[in-house]
Amino acid sequence: MLLHGKLVSDLSEENQKELILQGGRGGKGNTHFATSTRQAPRFSQDGEKGIEKELVLELKLLADVGLIGFPNVGKSTFLSRVTSAKPKIADYHFTTIIPNLGVVKSIYGDSFVIADIPGIIEGASTGVGLGIQFLRHIERTRLLLHVIDVSGIEGRKPVEDFYTINNELKTYSEKLSTRKQIIVANKIDVMQDVQLYKDLEELAKEQNMEIYKISAATGEGIDDLMNRVTQVLKELPKEELIEAEERIVYTLQEDKDEFTVLKDGNDFIVEGPAAERLMGRINIGDNESMHYFQKSIRQLGIENKLKQMGIKEGDTVKFLDWEFEWYD
Ligand code: GDP
Ligand code: MG
Repeated sequence: MLLHGKLVSDLSEENQKELILQGGRGGKGNTHFATSTRQAPRFSQDGEKGIEKELVLELKLLADVGLIGFPNVGKSTFLSRVTSAKPKIADYHFTTIIPNLGVVKSIYGDSFVIADIPGIIEGASTGVGLGIQFLRHIERTRLLLHVIDVSGIEGRKPVEDFYTINNELKTYSEKLSTRKQIIVANKIDVMQDVQLYKDLEELAKEQNMEIYKISAATGEGIDDLMNRVTQVLKELPKEELIEAEERIVYTLQEDKDEFTVLKDGNDFIVEGPAAERLMGRINIGDNESMHYFQKSIRQLGIENKLKQMGIKEGDTVKFLDWEFEWYD
């Protein structure tokens, strides 16, 4: 939850509650003012206005594993194979336009959630393409599966792809770029040039990353990978909650009898929190409410102030948006 661009609250637990803005005090209905002799008073108090602020709520998917990689490398195919999710799969880029979640069932051990993030492309972190809006969904994952097409059928260069995607991650979030990654070399069923895979394997070694060869299409290698993923998830700590950058709770001002009176010719302008609060609690046009109003402006010292400033019968008082004629 963001306020003025600052993170004020992180809601990631079920039933978690946070007070950010306090509502106004509730009004009192006329029955509240009923007495034995005045059983149905017409007098009532409106509730006070609460505080209005615009909060930006960001939805982040909570998944244990995030799939990253260029479009068309087989992320959705992989998800549909290991979970019962039915993402769109097609042989053109940008097939996935919404993140898909799938739950991996217990054949591989404990169940966990995988998020298929639409393809990150170069420039995603600066807003190019579809990727950026989805990167935030993988912030909470504990493990990234970096899917890379090693077949060469689309002319992709696996090593280059690895760096491009990781640079995007890094530009977007330093923290995300250090998240544990397992390289998933996909489409081995249609491998055209074994060297492409060999180079990637070499790079994995340099980067001290694990690499698994699979075919999302035929299922080859998937069991080994998923067993490893299950194991890794058991070892990795749950991602700790992101601490709010600033803990802000807007509360109503304490009852401060603040008001100002300005004189403009024969007009007297009353403003300030005390005036606003009072106006919020009365119904103009209701006699009893008006008695309450009179009593209040006396108690608040507004009447005295007006008199000090020389108010006379017939002068106009502008009480916020409301005008009335003064009678002594
Ligand atoms: P995404 O954009 O990364 O989600 O990729 P998709 O899962 O939509 O797959 C893109 C295309 O690659 C589809 O035509 C898939 O059928 C195909 N594909 C995915 N995995 C494999 C694989 O292991 N082998 C082969 N031959 N094709 C695959
Ligand atoms: Mg897809």
